[in-house]
Amino acid sequence: MTDKTPAKKATQTYPCPQCKSLTRWDNNPWRPFCSERCKLIDLGDWATERHAIPGDDDAPGDFEEF
Ligand SMILES: [Zn+2]
Repeated sequence: MTDKTPAKKATQTYPCPQCKSLTRWDNNPWRPFCSERCKLIDLGDWATERHAIPGDDDAPGDFEEF
């Protein structure tokens, strides 16, 4: 008999949010990412998004006008 119990392991694995490769949660300093690279990529995305805040163009630039 083959006992195939789905998802019953001590070590959980999940797809990396960045590169979608299977990653373990245990012993992973970069979680939820699979590696430092993926983490940095994600942070980079964040920084880029923050840099271009939608609506910023809309706001009247009263302050920095000479
Ligand atoms: Zn990854």
